[in-house]
Amino acid sequence: MTIKHKFALRPRPNIHVEPAADPRLVPPRVSRVSVLQEPVLVLNATYEPINVTAVRRAVTLVLKGVAQAEEHNHREIHSAREAMPVPSVIRLLAYRHIPQQTRALSRKNILLRDRNTCQFCGDVFPASELTLDHVVPRSRGGHSSWENLVACCYQCNNRKGDRTPEEAGLRLARRPRPFTLHTSRQLMRLLGRQDEKWRKYLFD
Ligand SMILES: [Zn+2]
Repeated sequence: MTIKHKFALRPRPNIHVEPAADPRLVPPRVSRVSVLQEPVLVLNATYEPINVTAVRRAVTLVLKGVAQAEEHNHREIHSAREAMPVPSVIRLLAYRHIPQQTRALSRKNILLRDRNTCQFCGDVFPASELTLDHVVPRSRGGHSSWENLVACCYQCNNRKGDRTPEEAGLRLARRPRPFTLHTSRQLMRLLGRQDEKWRKYLFD
């Protein structure tokens, strides 16, 4: 995106920086990248929370006139001509219909739904230590679907083998369900705990 090159993070206005800018005082590249990747809550035109995106994408939507910023955090991003406060919450100006299930069935999304928790032993693992388990094994006609795929640690996966949970003496932590808007809202609530300004949109 052009935005990436157009904007650079400048220090917060209340932080004093020597006027004769020594290049070494320019904030490190890392912080510029991170502010553009910070999460921004996206509201529908009706103020219903629908998504979480990154600052970079949120700024693009605002500059295109597709969305407007409802809340800002305290920092600014600068282009050659203007400064813009970093949005924390944006709202789409036109109502967007959101289908019940908008998320693709993928390993990443299954792990996100199950919050990196093995659905058999209940322990939390890094993504690299989790696999996807077909609850009803494929050899027994089980499909690759939201309802039949769960996050599973390698130990439980080995223990289960080519059997159903009942046969292996394992129990699912909860019934696997599609990644719906409801699930996304739960995730937004979790993320929202980090950002005060999201709360009034998420907890009403
Ligand atoms: Zn396990």
